[in-house]
Amino acid sequence: RNVKMYFPITGGILQRRIGEVKAVDNVSFSIKKGDTLGLVGESGCGKSTTGRVIMRLYEPTEGSIVFDGHDITNIKGDQLRRLRQNFQMVFQDPFSSLNPRMTVGAIVAEPMIVNTRMTQKEVGERVAYLLRVVGLPQEAAFKHPHEFSGGQRQRIAIARALGLNPKLMVLDEAVSALDVSIQAQIINLLDDLRRQFGLSYLFISHNLSVVKHVSNKVGVMYLGRMVEIAPKSKLYGAPLHPYTQSLLSAAPEASRKVKRERIVLAGEVPNPSNPPSGCAFHTRCPKAMNICREARPELLEIVPEQFVACHLY
Ligand code: SF4
Ligand code: MG
Repeated sequence: RNVKMYFPITGGILQRRIGEVKAVDNVSFSIKKGDTLGLVGESGCGKSTTGRVIMRLYEPTEGSIVFDGHDITNIKGDQLRRLRQNFQMVFQDPFSSLNPRMTVGAIVAEPMIVNTRMTQKEVGERVAYLLRVVGLPQEAAFKHPHEFSGGQRQRIAIARALGLNPKLMVLDEAVSALDVSIQAQIINLLDDLRRQFGLSYLFISHNLSVVKHVSNKVGVMYLGRMVEIAPKSKLYGAPLHPYTQSLLSAAPEASRKVKRERIVLAGEVPNPSNPPSGCAFHTRCPKAMNICREARPELLEIVPEQFVACHLY
């Protein structure tokens, strides 16, 4: 609720604070059990930071994070470590998240060895089970990550993430580095696992077509702010925010089915340490008005379940 994550910028030989980056600037949303919220936006819009704040890898500057009815915003130490078992994160590049010196069995077993009192036998059995669940052969346990393809490595990362029975998984560009056909396989696997284990996902991606496949609800971020959030059918069927409209008009899959005029945005994403006044999108918005430079639009429910931050509505 109303989460802000500001990072200080320091400069000079004294490393004095000279400003801040508002990586996440007053963002609110919720994810229901068993649901997938897709989070989209260009790189640097605050998607990954949002995922990390939810994981409590960062303590937010302001706002609160509530999990299963408990406010977890400021918990620390043992309590945080215990709670974090409910959350797991899977990243884009399984190469960097899998220790190349460890066998796959050891990689999948590690969180259970560190966080539980399971016996060696129990851990071994659970590793075998998890490899089966993610569609890897049992011999995989004795090999090293480099012996596997990108898609298989992502299966290893998912098996490891499932070890402690998480409730929420933050998938940060988890399929973005994979070939399209492999992407589809991993997406199907994630969907099966979500149903089988009652998982909820925060699915972060710059790829709108992929997000469309996996999500119930989709949020669009721009320069640290949520500019539109709605059930998938509404967001893709009738996007209201000019930024969402431009993103969708550029997505190849969307434009094939629905005839959308391609909206080309002027200029680059502005520097997040010095975002434009008013509506942060006004420097690139084809529909900008005078008020857009002055007043920041609130995220409001414009049609049922569709929240938009734009002065047009
Ligand atoms: Fe464009 Fe103004 Fe709406 Fe921002 S508030 S998206 S600048 S029309
Ligand atoms: Mg990112």
